[in-house]
Amino acid sequence: MSIKFFKNGKIMDVIKGNIYDASIIVEDGFIKEIGADLKCPEGAEIIDFKGGFVSPGLFNCHVHTVADLPKARDGRKMIAAATVESIENCQKYLRSGVTYVRDVGGSEYIDIDLRDAINAGKVEGPEMVVSGRCICMTGGHGWTSGREADGPDDCRKAAREQLRAGADWIKIMATGGVMTKGVEPGSPQLTEEEMRAAIEEAHKVNAKTATHAQGMVGIKNALRAGIDSIEHGFYMDDWCFDWMKEHGTFYVPTLAAMYWIYVNPDKVPDFMIRKCRSAFDAHKKTFTNAYKAGVKIALGTDAGTPFNPHDKTAYEMVLMNENGMDNWDCIRAGTINAAELCGVESDHGTIEIGKKANFTVYAGNPIEDINNVMDCCMTVIGGNIKFSK
Ligand SMILES: [Zn+2]
Repeated sequence: MSIKFFKNGKIMDVIKGNIYDASIIVEDGFIKEIGADLKCPEGAEIIDFKGGFVSPGLFNCHVHTVADLPKARDGRKMIAAATVESIENCQKYLRSGVTYVRDVGGSEYIDIDLRDAINAGKVEGPEMVVSGRCICMTGGHGWTSGREADGPDDCRKAAREQLRAGADWIKIMATGGVMTKGVEPGSPQLTEEEMRAAIEEAHKVNAKTATHAQGMVGIKNALRAGIDSIEHGFYMDDWCFDWMKEHGTFYVPTLAAMYWIYVNPDKVPDFMIRKCRSAFDAHKKTFTNAYKAGVKIALGTDAGTPFNPHDKTAYEMVLMNENGMDNWDCIRAGTINAAELCGVESDHGTIEIGKKANFTVYAGNPIEDINNVMDCCMTVIGGNIKFSK
């Protein structure tokens, strides 16, 4: 049995919204006791939080550990290079406090093999759930790495293929996107019937479904089809918010995706910056409205898209805060809400007895200044220190 004694922490209770001084005893990766006057158990390894602010482990619910595969000079897909990069990206997550990622679409099933390698202890990385290839219409957003599917039967088959390959989630493209040339973010793509077929297959085996959905028509199609999370969601109205609240549908805004393109206008193609400018203001407004309406919001960044780094997950909290979200709710979006979205809230998302010992430790108090989330000084997964400085 492994016993660890984490001392001298300022523990962030994300349910009550308060911070208290305590030590934590961790047994075999799970929280055994929490308290101010705990004695260090005999033989326990002692770890000092050094007065840091201890948050439940940070989630990033929208990443692409493998983005589009680069092509070599002779035209072959550089699968090995992309795999190496994905391992490097895992290091970046750990160094920036991320203990859990939901990968929503990769290439060549590298994400699935990467998850398995992490679970087998062959590669260091955050806990990970994956989607395999995204399902998109022929020529639609994501088609270069996704599984093109047309008609409900083909979408059903495409979902079954991803599940057979080992996907935990099914990712579906409801609309066009900023990154794909020739498609507009507002235009619907897979139809309601097509999405419903894929979603049915996922739900049959208790897998959840996420949709890339920017324009309103596509978002409504996806909601009516039974989707579990709306990703990006640039344009949403009260009908969308009411539906999401009634059905428990999550919103993963990924404000960072637009932000990183927006602050690098010289480095992206004209078609991309044009779409970005027109959408960013609407996106921020929708985010603020969704928050005010009480829609469940979980943190994701779309890391892997242009200039969107794998080591800046926490910056999404700064962006959400700038657009009206309360500091505690920013922390919740990246912890308890994210855990609920991923269906792991019974042992993740809060610091409570019985839960997995996943911690993200910040040097400064994020409730006083949200920018303090950018200074992670320790990452702990299952009681094991994955990063510290
Ligand atoms: Zn994405």
